[in-house]
Amino acid sequence: MSNIGTKCVQGGYTPGNGEPRQIPIYQSTTFKYATSEEMGKLFDLEASGYFYTRLQNPTNDLVANKICELEGGAAAMLTSSGQAANFFALFNICGCGDHIVASSTIYGGTFNLIAVTMAKMGITATFVSPDSSEEELNAAFQPNTKAMFGETIANPALTVLDIEKFAKVAHAHGVPLIVDNTFPTPINCRPIEWGADIVTHSTTKYMDGHGAAVGGAIVDSGNFDWMAHADKYPGLCTPDDSYHGVTYAERFGKAAYITKATVQLMRDFGSIQSPQNAFILNLGLESLHVRMPRHVENAQAVAEFLNSHEKVAYVNYSGLPTDKYYERAQKYMPNGGCGVVSFGLKGGREAASIFMRELKLGAIETHVADARTCCLNPATSTHRQMTDEQLKEAGVPAELIRISIGIEDKADLIADIAQALDAI
Ligand SMILES: *Cc1c(COP(=O)(O)O)cnc(C)c1O
Repeated sequence: MSNIGTKCVQGGYTPGNGEPRQIPIYQSTTFKYATSEEMGKLFDLEASGYFYTRLQNPTNDLVANKICELEGGAAAMLTSSGQAANFFALFNICGCGDHIVASSTIYGGTFNLIAVTMAKMGITATFVSPDSSEEELNAAFQPNTKAMFGETIANPALTVLDIEKFAKVAHAHGVPLIVDNTFPTPINCRPIEWGADIVTHSTTKYMDGHGAAVGGAIVDSGNFDWMAHADKYPGLCTPDDSYHGVTYAERFGKAAYITKATVQLMRDFGSIQSPQNAFILNLGLESLHVRMPRHVENAQAVAEFLNSHEKVAYVNYSGLPTDKYYERAQKYMPNGGCGVVSFGLKGGREAASIFMRELKLGAIETHVADARTCCLNPATSTHRQMTDEQLKEAGVPAELIRISIGIEDKADLIADIAQALDAI
């Protein structure tokens, strides 16, 4: 199976004779064994198999395998949410006293996770502009830095990560690059091909694509040589007492990172995706390669329309040749990035409020990356406690509207946006 569209539809699961064509939902918390010796082998990680759905479930693994194939990884796992995926991806290799270098333009939830919650665990971070020079990136590293993190296309800033540059700097410091690839999805960008070591997803967005199931995924390329940096990663490179002294990087090779995250973090935190949600996610994945080009086509048309409208002050969309990230996006995402566009109205906060009220097809939601168009004006909703000055500093000026373009008919979307602009 070579092409990505075929992987979307049939990847991860090949039924045998007389077996269900669709992936089965293993709606079971537990799995039975004939002897305690057989089950003991699972606990000692000497045999592979399932024993309890808090750690692993066969339905989840089928869907994780598909995402692994799509990203070109070596091993993958599903998590209960994108937040859990990013936390696990980092915490699997960072502990108290360690440090992370992260792009400053990342999802607000991830920023909080790293800057506030992980700081309480004794893990510090330095945030860098995604447009930093190599020298500036190098300067952010410390002897205790264990990971570098960024988003391919940032939510909601829509900056584009220079994955090759970030990977080069990370590797020069002997640490892996973790890339959250939620917005482009592997249909439009595969960060591992550009040097990223670990890829994360909020599958809640385009992968599910229908606003139906919250979920996350972690894919490991298997390319990072943990043993070559054994002093930095004792969790992977020295015996784990909680598993009878197994050394993950020795025993599990390219699956070491995902195995550790499964048997240690999933065991202890239990942020598992329900098999029902994994099944729903798989339905979304089956059409991902059909939906993404349509999201891009519609968003490009809307961005061009907004860009030429007299009431619009500016548009952020990396598919526009006038956009700051156009060239970088052409390199990493020649077929387009995603369906999310942001723009500012000349009339400021008041105009934004009228526009949002008048829009009929675009519903007001905090969600993005859905088959249905939705939009948000942070100043009058999620960030409404802030003054105009504070909003500007936070990178979400009062007039900014984020619109996530769905897969409806683009003529209808543009007509709807036009009438909402006329009402201002
Ligand atoms: C939404 C989002 C997340 C968080 O995912 P949840 O599934 O909501 O937990 C992380 N990263 C990005 C880029 C996102 O858009």
